[in-house]
Amino acid sequence: MADIYERIGVRRLINARGTHTRLGGTLMRPEVAEAMQAAAGAYVVLDELQDRASEVIARATGLEAGMVTGGAEAGLLLGTAAILAGTDPSKIAALPDTSGLTRSEAIMHRAHRNGYDHALRAAGATVVDIGYGGSTLPYQLRSALNERTALVMYLMSPWANQGALSLPQTCEIAHEAGVPVLVDAAAMLPPASNLTRFVAEGADLVTFSGGKGLMGPQSSGILAGRADLIRAARLNGSPYHSVGRSAKAAKEDIVGLIVALENYLERDHEADIAGWRAQAEYMLEHLRDFPGVAASYLHDGREHPVPRVELVFDASTGIDAHQLVLAMEEHDPRIFLFEPTGPTAKVNSICINTQTMQPGEEEIVARALHAAIAERLRRAEPIAVLSSSGGR
Ligand SMILES: *Cc1c(COP(=O)(O)O)cnc(C)c1O
Repeated sequence: MADIYERIGVRRLINARGTHTRLGGTLMRPEVAEAMQAAAGAYVVLDELQDRASEVIARATGLEAGMVTGGAEAGLLLGTAAILAGTDPSKIAALPDTSGLTRSEAIMHRAHRNGYDHALRAAGATVVDIGYGGSTLPYQLRSALNERTALVMYLMSPWANQGALSLPQTCEIAHEAGVPVLVDAAAMLPPASNLTRFVAEGADLVTFSGGKGLMGPQSSGILAGRADLIRAARLNGSPYHSVGRSAKAAKEDIVGLIVALENYLERDHEADIAGWRAQAEYMLEHLRDFPGVAASYLHDGREHPVPRVELVFDASTGIDAHQLVLAMEEHDPRIFLFEPTGPTAKVNSICINTQTMQPGEEEIVARALHAAIAERLRRAEPIAVLSSSGGR
């Protein structure tokens, strides 16, 4: 039913920005959607379904156990609750009140702080920051670990990690103090090798989004790790009455995630990457000849292969990258690209991420951008380009 959004009255869009929740996250593979449809047709005991999911996740990650959650954020909530309350019914009932607990602090690198650490605080943890933001020294973690520390929460991101201790070093120091490490790897697929990597590096719990690289249900995620902690996470979540009850994964989500994960393990990831690259190169071919516009292909390499076309506009072009991004959102069909931010972002630039683009959409995007850039160059008046594009 491709026109369901038309019937409801919502405009569809071309997602050239990536696996962003607010743009729909990911498109499910047809096998996943079919499996969810089938799952919707019968009743099962949810715990028995989670037991099977645990086996599939354990095989895929090399971890002892796993569960399907209502997203990676839900995994952070359940993982934190599991570490705080364990399987003790009175502690589970008390969360997010941690006044009866000795250990309720979650240590995070300053470089890792982001909007998703709401999940830790929602479970009842108090976040304690370490490091300088741009760099962290081992003693800073060592001296922050004390008798109140419940966990270390580690954000896995090729960009943020430049300011943090490495995961193996973080795990080594935390484990010396008997403290578990919870890893947020929500957006770290692909590559598929990351399914097993963080465990090998010492993580006790890892969470992945089902609604990003796995191409599963948008409202699903994986929490995987030590069997004792997964057992505790399940007791701190749905269907039990607990702080994690709202992090529910439905039977359709669990089935959809299992099929998405099985599928992901069998996928030809090199072919995926080649496809993203071909789309990027098609657009580069059509956009590289404008004066004052530097077009290039960016790729974050083996650690996190996100394919992007970057266009940087010289002040002489009169093009304001921000306005161009907004204009594309009003194009018919709507095209959502992005203006990069952060320390590595080029001034007055836009990026097109092909990971979430459908076959053929590169032609529409190339044509729309070509027309918009040519039009602006015709009436070009040099603009004052600010020294930073941050804060927008
Ligand atoms: C997307 C994301 C999340 C949340 O994942 P959901 O599956 O949408 O809940 C958490 N952490 C990071 C770093 C993310 O990129």
